[in-house]
Amino acid sequence: MPNVESIIRNYDLDRLCVATIASHSALQILRACKAYGFKTIAIARDQVAWFYKRFNFIDEVWISEYPELPKLADRLVRENAILIPHGSMVEYVGWKRLMEIPVPIHGVRGLLEVEADQRRKMELLQIAGIPTPKTFDDVENVDRPVIVKLYGAKGGRGYVIARNKEELKEKLRGIKGPYIIQEYVIGVPAYYHYYASAIYDRVEIMGMDIRYESNVDGRTFGLAEPTFVVVGNMPLVIRESLLPTIVRYGEQFAKAVEEVIGERMKGPYSLESIIRDDLTIVVFEFSGRIVAGTNVYMGVGSPYSTLYFDRPIDMGTRIAIELNEARKRGRLLDVVS
Ligand code: AMP
Repeated sequence: MPNVESIIRNYDLDRLCVATIASHSALQILRACKAYGFKTIAIARDQVAWFYKRFNFIDEVWISEYPELPKLADRLVRENAILIPHGSMVEYVGWKRLMEIPVPIHGVRGLLEVEADQRRKMELLQIAGIPTPKTFDDVENVDRPVIVKLYGAKGGRGYVIARNKEELKEKLRGIKGPYIIQEYVIGVPAYYHYYASAIYDRVEIMGMDIRYESNVDGRTFGLAEPTFVVVGNMPLVIRESLLPTIVRYGEQFAKAVEEVIGERMKGPYSLESIIRDDLTIVVFEFSGRIVAGTNVYMGVGSPYSTLYFDRPIDMGTRIAIELNEARKRGRLLDVVS
């Protein structure tokens, strides 16, 4: 891991810059950071650069293939840049390159490595004391519907669902590479957006969403296998009686990160759950960075954010507030890794 402390010490705090890969939640992030006085850079593939150049809150669009991001590290440091990681950055640049890149990253860098490994990911949730789906190590023990997750499967592509042991055995024949077999939890999905603030010393519930998934929410009439390919997101508010549990899980997660990685949780993250009809919440996944579902609140703000800021803000603005406060209080090292 790079020596972020020495990089930040040389930064000109009056000329900080926020940079991210031009995809996912880049518009939300850069729009908000520009409003808080940061210079903004979008790093775009040649094919999409034109689109990001349309927006005047983006100061510079740098053209690069995403795996080449490390080659831009020196230039980013000269710009006093902080990288904001998001799902597409992790996917296109690759977590290994992000672990090494000598540019400060908002959030806990070490989480990217845990997130890339299905087993370690589930272990972290279990250490946090958050209910997770049952995992089956042996096909013979499968006694309920299951979902098979290939390592590195993205956006649900590469997942396989089986109703029972027999169907599972049949379907496993076509699968190569490491995977986990997980109980398929019956209920509604709900994805929670948290922000761990070093500045205010708290975990905030910023919002939640549900996904709009092609062969799950589409008019497939049983004609297609569910593939969970995310097409968009929709906002969600939850029964207030569920909120304390959701906030508690968010706090427990932050505590577990500190225990396992040895670093305080910071920045945006998400827990992804199914809520059963008995209202129990089962978390099957986390994202240790901003999720695209936060885009549903871009510019309008989320209802829950008003509980902390007395006005609706989006996650991009939440990031901008934290970076801005950190720079003013000389605490940038507390919000990056
Ligand atoms: P993921 O790529 O892990 O976010 O999962 C894609 C989709 O699969 C989710 O949005 C859920 O709808 C579904 N899913 C994943 N794991 C489970 C599970 N254990 N039980 C039920 N549904 C699941």
